[in-house]
Amino acid sequence: MRDPELSVVVPMYDEEDVLPIFFERMRPLLDGLGISYEVLVVDDGSRDATASMLLAAATGWPELRVVRLLRNSGHQAAQSAGFRRARGRFLVTIDADLQDPPEIIADFLATAREQQVDVVYGVRSDRSSDSWAKRTTARLYYRLICRLVGREIPFDAADFRLVSRRVVDAVNALPEDGRVFRLVIPWLGFPSAEVEYVRAERAAGVTKYNWSKMFRLAFDSVTAFSAAPLRLATWFGLLGGLLSGLFAVGALVIKLSGESVPGWTSTVLAVSVIGAIQLLCLGLLGEYVARLFQSSQRRPQFLVGYDSLEDTGHQAVNEVARR
Ligand code: UDP
Ligand code: MG
Repeated sequence: MRDPELSVVVPMYDEEDVLPIFFERMRPLLDGLGISYEVLVVDDGSRDATASMLLAAATGWPELRVVRLLRNSGHQAAQSAGFRRARGRFLVTIDADLQDPPEIIADFLATAREQQVDVVYGVRSDRSSDSWAKRTTARLYYRLICRLVGREIPFDAADFRLVSRRVVDAVNALPEDGRVFRLVIPWLGFPSAEVEYVRAERAAGVTKYNWSKMFRLAFDSVTAFSAAPLRLATWFGLLGGLLSGLFAVGALVIKLSGESVPGWTSTVLAVSVIGAIQLLCLGLLGEYVARLFQSSQRRPQFLVGYDSLEDTGHQAVNEVARR
């Protein structure tokens, strides 16, 4: 089989609610593009009916390719799997929940061709469909990230974008694990363009990004790109040292002047302030040590359990039967 022109990579985790709408909206649209394509759904170890629904749909939709990770490895890891396996000359990543309108894919392709760019970012022109908490944390996140990466990051561009084969190969060649795509891709520096769109509400189901996954993403984003927090730790350490020096001098002066102050408050204050600073610094160090540890382990970030492209006929049946 010849490699398709376009690969649409869709990470999915427990998306059974959205799947029927997803098929209904995606298929006519992609068929209508008039180019060869594959829809590469990376099932990120879903525990619901997602896998069996996908396999059932694949029998009637030859362009639908199902790659199943052995266990839930996270949105970014699922994208990594998609990047590794996709064959298209262009690759679009899109969420399963149809918050990013798939109709924009046609605009992505047109922009990439007309402007001869390797990356087309989907940029949200309006975030009113997100909750206040999501908007606020997202704004903080992008501010911080722009600072750290030190390069213009398209604001409010998440994981809805088109990249060319050149970019896919460059990303796959990166040695690091735990990549955060929305940072790594701008950082690579390929010529890029933007297409604005309005982000819709989730078509069905609930968010699969809980707070801990959001924190993980934020921590990975920072520690992957910057040692600034480590330097921050040094500054805190210096400040803490200075403060405790002042405390010591103060205590000495008071003692020499003969006024015996009970001093309980200041002692507790000093101990807790310095303790807090120390813990903070240790925590920051820990984040980096953890990263070094993980990369020295060289464990795969994800394992593929099944790929419908490599299926010889009976695996799919087993796969469904196993659920
Ligand atoms: N997702 C995934 N693995 C996870 C969490 C999420 O593959 O561990 C997928 C999810 O199925 C969806 C996309 O990542 O296609 C974005 O997740 P979601 O829409 O829940 O995040 P939100 O839009 O609320 O930030
Ligand atoms: Mg979503």
